[in-house]
Amino acid sequence: MATGKIGVSTQNLFPIIKKFLYSDHEIFLREIVSNAVDATQKLKVLSSSGEFKGEAGGLRVCVKADKEAGTLTVSDNGIGMTQEEVEKYINQIAFSGAEEFLEKHKDDAATIIGHFGLGFYSAFMVSDKVEIITKSYRDGAQAVRWTGEGDTEYTLEPAEKAERGTDIVMHINEEEKDFLEENKVQELLSKYCKFLPVPIVFGKKKEWKDGKYEDTAEDNVINDTEPLWVRKPADLKEEDYGKFYRELYPMGQDPLFHIHLNVDYPFNLTGILYFPKIDNKFEIQKNKIQLYCNQVYVSDSVEGIVPEYLTLLHGVIDSPDIPLNVSRSYLQSDGNVKKISSHITKKVADSLLDIFKNTREDYEKKWDDLKVFIQYGMLTDEKFAERATPIVLLKNTEGKYFTLEEYENLVKVNQTDKDNHLVYLYATNVEEQYTYIQAAKDKGYDVLVMDGQLDTHFISHLEQKGTDRRFLRVDSDVIDKLIPKDDAKGTDWSEEQQEEIRGVFDAQLPKEGAMYFVNFEALGEGGEPVVITRSEFMRRMKEMAAMNPGMGFYGAMEDQLTLVVNTDHRLVKGILEDERRALGAKLQPLNDAIRENEKKREEIDALNKDRKEEEIPQVDKDRKKECEEKSEALRQEKQTLLQEYGKDNRIVGQLIDLALLANGLLKGEALNRFVKRSVELIK
Ligand code: ADP
Repeated sequence: MATGKIGVSTQNLFPIIKKFLYSDHEIFLREIVSNAVDATQKLKVLSSSGEFKGEAGGLRVCVKADKEAGTLTVSDNGIGMTQEEVEKYINQIAFSGAEEFLEKHKDDAATIIGHFGLGFYSAFMVSDKVEIITKSYRDGAQAVRWTGEGDTEYTLEPAEKAERGTDIVMHINEEEKDFLEENKVQELLSKYCKFLPVPIVFGKKKEWKDGKYEDTAEDNVINDTEPLWVRKPADLKEEDYGKFYRELYPMGQDPLFHIHLNVDYPFNLTGILYFPKIDNKFEIQKNKIQLYCNQVYVSDSVEGIVPEYLTLLHGVIDSPDIPLNVSRSYLQSDGNVKKISSHITKKVADSLLDIFKNTREDYEKKWDDLKVFIQYGMLTDEKFAERATPIVLLKNTEGKYFTLEEYENLVKVNQTDKDNHLVYLYATNVEEQYTYIQAAKDKGYDVLVMDGQLDTHFISHLEQKGTDRRFLRVDSDVIDKLIPKDDAKGTDWSEEQQEEIRGVFDAQLPKEGAMYFVNFEALGEGGEPVVITRSEFMRRMKEMAAMNPGMGFYGAMEDQLTLVVNTDHRLVKGILEDERRALGAKLQPLNDAIRENEKKREEIDALNKDRKEEEIPQVDKDRKKECEEKSEALRQEKQTLLQEYGKDNRIVGQLIDLALLANGLLKGEALNRFVKRSVELIK
C-alpha cells in the first residue's frame, strides 16, 4: 500500500474548502455524477474510434444510498483509471494563490470548484472519507483503491474489482446524513441530472403491493437521455414541444410559442425557449430558464448570459461554451458570452419573424399576450428593437391589428396635421373614453388601444424612432385641436365675456380631486357644449413619475383638467345672455371702472417707457400701484357677483356634471345631486 501527500501548493486546502463552501453543498452530487457520465462518454468515443475494442455494453451510472453503512456510492462502467491516472488526475491539484482566491469567492462554491477543477473534491463537503475503486478499460489493468479523509493524506492500494469502471464511495458525515435519504437523493438527481445523456439508475422502480411500495425488477432511471432540445427540430411535432414544456413546468399554462435554438457555429448552443402565457399582469417571473452544460443542470439563473428581456421567457439553454463555473460579473464582461447573447437575440427575432410571416392570423390572436415581451425587448435592447420593428403590432378599438407600416398607411391621409405630423390617437380604456373615441371616429379618425403595462414607455419609444409621429390620447384635447388641419379658429368672444362666463363656471367646478381650467373654443353648433380634456404632456409625466420614483415632483402634482366651453353652442350662448341680463347693470360700472383704471396704468407706463426701473419717479410708482390695487379689488367684487350668480345656475351645473360624467369623474354625493337635478329638469 502506498501513502502520500496530495500535491497542492497550499497545505490546508481542505479545511478551507470545508469552511467556505457552506452554501451549495448539494452540488457535490452533480459533480460526481457528471464525472461518471464523462467517463462513460469517453469510453463511447474510444469505442467508436476503435481504440477500445472490447464490449462497451449498456453504459450507465448507478447511484446507491446505503443508510446502514452510511455511504452514498456512484458507480459507472466508463473508462476507469489506472494507478498512474489516479495519481495524475486525483492527487495533483496544482494551483497558486489559492487562499486569496478562496477568500474572495467564499460564498460561491460553484466558482471555486470550477476554478480549481475540484469537481471530485467537492465530495468532501459532505463526507468524512471518500474511496475511489477503479479499473481502467485497458487490457490487463489492475484495479486500485484510493482513500482520502479530507486532509492532504491519501492511500492508494491494489483492489479487487471485476468490471471496468469506477465506484466513488462517499462516507457521508454526521451533519449531512440527509444525503442518505432516498427522497433527498431522488430530488437532487431530478434537479441536476434529469437530462444527462447516459441513463442514471437509482434503485428499482416501485409498485404499490399489499399495502406498501415494493421494488419491481425494473431499474429506476431518473433521466431522459435525449431531451427535446438535443433532437432535430425537423423530427419534432408541435405536441412534443407542449409535452416537454409540461415536463419542465407541470403547473404552467400552455405557452404561446416556442423557439428551438440550434447553433453550432461560432459556438455551440442548443435550447428551447418558450413565450409563456401570462394571466396576471403582475405575475411575470424571471428565472424560469434553466441553464445546462452538456445536459448537466447548472442553474436557473441566466442573467448575464441572455439579454435581460429574455429572462422573462421559459425553457432551457444548453451550451458547453458558456463558462459556467465563474462568477456573474465575470460572465457579463466575457466576450464570448456577449456574442452568445446577441446571437440568441437574433435567433429569437428571426423566429418570431417567421412565425409572423407564416401564421399571421395565429400571431395576431396571441399578440395581446406576446406584446409585453416584444415591447420589453425593444425598450431594453437596441439590436432587438431593430429586428423586431416589422413584427410589432398595433391594435385599434375595433380589434384589428396592423404593423407599424400598415398603420401609417391607414391613417396618413386623414391624420396628418398642419405641421406634417402624423397623429396616432389612442385610448387607454375603451369603456371610460368611449365618448372621445366616438367623436374621433365620427371625424373619420382611427383610435388605437394602448392599455398594456409598458405602453406608456413604448409610445415614447415609437415617438423617438419616428420624429414626425405623435401619440395623443383621444381625450387630450377637443377633437378639432387633436389633429389641427389649419390654424385654429379660436373663439370670437371678447376677453370680458370669457372672464364673466369663466367666473360663472368656476362657481360650480369641483374643488377637490383635480385642478380645473376653463377655456373657450368655437366647436360648432353641433359640438358638445362642454368637454373636459387632459393634457397629454402632464398625464404622461404623471404616469412616468408613478413608475419612476425619481420624478416625484410630477407624481405629487394634482391632475390638471381643462373644461372647454363651446361658444358656438346654443346653451352656452344662452348662459351668456342670461348672465348679462341678470348682472349687466351691476357689472357695467365695475367693467367701466376696471377699464378706466387700466387706461390710467397704461398712461403711466407710456410716460416712463424709456426709463429704467430706478429712474421712474416715486409718484408714478405709487400711482401705478394704486391703479393695480384698485383693479384687483374691482375684479374681486366682480368675481363675487359672478360666483354668487353662477352657483345656483342649473344649466351650468348640469353641463359641468355631464362633462364630468363622460369622464367617469362624477361620483358619490355629486352624482346623487346630478341625478336629482336631472329629474327636476325633466319635470
Ligand atoms: P474535472 O472533472 O474538472 O477535471 P475532477 O476533480 O472532477 O475535475 O476530476 C479530475 C479527473 O479525474 C477528471 O478529469 C478525470 O480524468 C478523473 N475522473 C474523475 N472521476 C472519474 C470517473 N468516475 N471515471 C474516470 N475518471 C474520473
